[in-house]
Amino acid sequence: MWVLKHLLANKLTMEYIRDLIRDVPDFPKKGIIFKDITPVLSDIKALRMSVKEMASPFMNLDIDVVVGIESRGFIFGVPIADILGASFVPVRKPGKLPSKTERITYDLEYGTDSLEIHQDSIKKNQSVLIVDDLLATGGTAEATCKLVSKLEGKIIGFAILIELSFLKGRKRLKQYNVHSLVKY
Ligand code: AMP
Repeated sequence: MWVLKHLLANKLTMEYIRDLIRDVPDFPKKGIIFKDITPVLSDIKALRMSVKEMASPFMNLDIDVVVGIESRGFIFGVPIADILGASFVPVRKPGKLPSKTERITYDLEYGTDSLEIHQDSIKKNQSVLIVDDLLATGGTAEATCKLVSKLEGKIIGFAILIELSFLKGRKRLKQYNVHSLVKY
């Protein structure tokens, strides 16, 4: 009975959050349906539930560091780090982090992109949870994995609000526990 109640509550939570996510067609360019999370942020109940549910599978896993991916990964990453009692580390676009960085360049559909992390932000063998708002092709998440691995952090998993399952980003993160709340 308790399990059933818990499952139902969970389903209702996900539906509440899903209903708030807004589709914006042709943003930032034609053909893309942008998943706008700002209505979730505007609703404190939804924001609290999102953060709690994203953190939930990692509660007893002794996470040392939460890595948030610029920029919407910061919004969710900081409160998740607070819940888990972990530190927060930002992964940023090039040229934004002021101290010594590691950089990774990865392929996009057209061209390349880069991400950076502070060299001293993760110690060898620290347990890391990576957080972002959305998983699409998985390129950004995979690049972040490589940055964390360069610093010899131990990746425990991913906490993601939205997964575009049809883009199969999860395939690139096979060896990790990928936890997403709302799937399309
Ligand atoms: P990807 O590397 O393809 O998995 O893309 C993930 C990153 O791009 C995330 O940081 C997202 O914030 C952003 N992103 C990709 N597609 C969308 C979309 N349809 N709506 C909103 N954000 C997106």
